[in-house]
Amino acid sequence: MTPMRPTGGMTASTGAAGGAAREPEFVSHKPAWLDGWKSGQGQPMAGIEPRRSWAKYGPNPRNANVMGSITRMTVHHDGMNAFTSTDRSSAAERIENIRSAHVGQGWADIGYHYIIDPAGRVWEGRPTSLQGAHVRDNNPGNLGIMVMGNYNKQAVTGPSQSALRATIATMMRQYRIERSRVYTHQELVATECPGMSLQRAMVSIRAGALA
Ligand SMILES: [Zn+2]
Repeated sequence: MTPMRPTGGMTASTGAAGGAAREPEFVSHKPAWLDGWKSGQGQPMAGIEPRRSWAKYGPNPRNANVMGSITRMTVHHDGMNAFTSTDRSSAAERIENIRSAHVGQGWADIGYHYIIDPAGRVWEGRPTSLQGAHVRDNNPGNLGIMVMGNYNKQAVTGPSQSALRATIATMMRQYRIERSRVYTHQELVATECPGMSLQRAMVSIRAGALA
């Protein structure tokens, strides 16, 4: 099939790495835990769809940065074509395509730590022990959460909005992140990501109960 490349914030020209061969803030460093890396390590959430259910490969240790303290989070869309399927295998295939495109840019792995599908499933992305690649010059300490689809072209589904709210609330508790440190991509750098309808949803989510 035609390789799907993320757009609207993660393209080579506007993405986190800006077309560079390596990830931003790259440090030549192989974390020891990657020697024995297995899907699920470092993941705090119960009920999450495990990485082994979608990923063909683990992170590339040579390109990995250690995350360190998580102090903020940023919400994205994938910015490709609209995606409304609630089918599990369709979601898994799309996530793997995104991982493959990101690795094709020289990144260690898919750029995001959590991925939410239109049915409200939450999928394990890049291990949270590793710094993400999702906001140019803003990846250290920044958890990346991506909602699958293009929110300039579609509405946010009820289940995905509920799952996003729950994920944000869980991460705020887990890492003691304040509401003011929960961002969307366009609030940090110039980009259309996460699209109009998801941006509106995020304004609503942050205004509501998140405890
Ligand atoms: Zn983005």
